[in-house]
Amino acid sequence: MIELKTPAEIERMHVTGRFVAEVLTEVGELADVGVNLMDLEHHVRGMIERRGAESCYWDYAPSFGKGPFRNVICLAVNDAVLHGLPHDYVLRDGDVLTADFAVTIDGWAADSARTVIVGTAAEQDLRIVRATEEALEAAIDVARPGNRLGDISAAIGAVARDHGYPVNTEFGGHGIGRTMHEELHVPNKGKAGRGLTLQPGLTLALEPWFARTTDRIVFDPDGWTIRSADGSRAAHTEHTVAVTEDVPLVLTRREQEEPVARAGSDRLSTKDS
Ligand code: MG
Ligand code: MG
Repeated sequence: MIELKTPAEIERMHVTGRFVAEVLTEVGELADVGVNLMDLEHHVRGMIERRGAESCYWDYAPSFGKGPFRNVICLAVNDAVLHGLPHDYVLRDGDVLTADFAVTIDGWAADSARTVIVGTAAEQDLRIVRATEEALEAAIDVARPGNRLGDISAAIGAVARDHGYPVNTEFGGHGIGRTMHEELHVPNKGKAGRGLTLQPGLTLALEPWFARTTDRIVFDPDGWTIRSADGSRAAHTEHTVAVTEDVPLVLTRREQEEPVARAGSDRLSTKDS
């Protein structure tokens, strides 16, 4: 069953979302050449404890994972992109780091991810990071009452296509609320005008992720970390979003975050005008 949230419930999710945003802001600031992924993990553990939040990852044991997850943040480097298991790794110049983070506070969840480039950014890495951000903004923009779930998928897919990135549909967005994963899967490509009609109170985690040259994935021996099958670098961006009577509400927006504008409208066939 899909649970529509009241404005008061959405505000409670927003409280959680603001904390998630704060954590990802700090992770972005701390991620630097010479920093160990485990230092980031331990820093975030401290933030969770001080805030009285509850990790959605600790003890998470889905069907695809290997045993319960015993970390509070997912950190993935370069060709690793989803469910990155923090480990003893020191960040190097030019690394592409994806941080994905979800907690509940007072029983309400929020989930967000960002990809940052450590030190000197290669042009092609910058391009894929910005493409996922652009796809996310395009997805958020159509998360409005009366639109369909397929409109969100199509918006993400259109941006990927525009940039020439293939799209994997095994892992995508999802419903969110009292728990991190609720009913509804939001594939990162699909047909506009299809699927569930969006209504005020629907809360979704939207999360475009692309690898440069493949839509196939492989699991690391650690049983969690997902990489691009061909070793090409990848990026992932995610926000928790509420459909409202008015404009879509991004519950995990970071204070200093500047939403990436969509690429020139002449290049996007889905843009309405
Ligand atoms: Mg996430
Ligand atoms: Mg998610």
